[in-house]
Amino acid sequence: MKKRCAVFHGAGREFEIREFEVAKPAGDAVGLKLVSSGICGTDVHIHQGFLKMPDFPLIIGHEFIGEIDAVGPEAATDALGRQLHIGDRVVACVAIPCGKCFNCLRGETASCLAFGVTYARNVEEEPHFHGGFSEYLFSPAKNLVRIPEGVDPFAAAAFPCGGPTVIRSCAYGGGLEKEEIVVVQGNGSLGLFALAWAKSQGCRVIMIGSAANPQRMELTRLLNPDLFFDYRGNTPEEIREKIMTYATDLKRGDGADVVMETSGSADAFPFGLTLLRTRGRYFVPGQYSDRGPVSIPPHMITFRALRILGSGQYTMADIGTYLGFLAEHPDLQTIFRKLVGKYRVDEANRAMADAAAGNVVKAVFADF
Ligand SMILES: [Zn+2]
Ligand SMILES: [Zn+2]
Repeated sequence: MKKRCAVFHGAGREFEIREFEVAKPAGDAVGLKLVSSGICGTDVHIHQGFLKMPDFPLIIGHEFIGEIDAVGPEAATDALGRQLHIGDRVVACVAIPCGKCFNCLRGETASCLAFGVTYARNVEEEPHFHGGFSEYLFSPAKNLVRIPEGVDPFAAAAFPCGGPTVIRSCAYGGGLEKEEIVVVQGNGSLGLFALAWAKSQGCRVIMIGSAANPQRMELTRLLNPDLFFDYRGNTPEEIREKIMTYATDLKRGDGADVVMETSGSADAFPFGLTLLRTRGRYFVPGQYSDRGPVSIPPHMITFRALRILGSGQYTMADIGTYLGFLAEHPDLQTIFRKLVGKYRVDEANRAMADAAAGNVVKAVFADF
């Protein structure tokens, strides 16, 4: 059996479509046939040259959902200890925490000091299929999480990375409480999932985003924020004023309990700080590429006793939490499925261009 993959040759360059014979998985590797493989904002940043990659041709992509085709002799269970069978659908995570550093030994594997990634291998190196933009993937069994009964893989394909990222960020921040006022900055992938997650915890959610893309707006509306502000249609002062009034009307203190920065814009950070109540928490999972410095008055952090919590990765258990959340919310699966726009692997260049231009909310590769 031969399968195709899209090979990354460096920032700004076209993906090359290659075809290789599929080998049998060795050791603890599992062979996966493509179901869905998403293009993440991170992949767009890689292609634009904002994130440094190794100097050899490789297959990028870290949101692979596959069907188990073959299991290596040493592969038995997934990351959460569940038996793997031919035909099971799984999410494959690319991160390899070292298991030995200070943070890993404390159980904080999402903040490993020596992370590796499974796809950082030359495409010429057998068995070739190391990364996500591909019709086939070999993954270590310990990097897989089985998709539970009742979860549509194309609903799971909406946020396989953004979902666990938001879940970890909230866990690092002490979780969300019912009735808290949560402001989400940005209505991209992280933002839309943060909205769904916070609403499901009984929070009141205010979203600040872009109304420019009608499809994204439609999805935002379906996820039902309590208030929505188009950042182009309101000045920051107007937005701040309305959020303060909303909080004081509810007798909830002098601002939002939680603000989540998911937009990735550097300027969003000083603005987000001003929206918090005294003792409020600022979760910052969205600053994935370095967009330069901003100016903030540190005095405000002291006098308003603010808590600022960064978070960039997630654990395998967070993927399990994400999939469990989908299983409990079939209504959300219906909405999430609408986000996904499908491309074949040989359409990688068009898919990347559409993802970068925002023509599609969530571009995924699929076999169809
Ligand atoms: Zn990602
Ligand atoms: Zn480590």
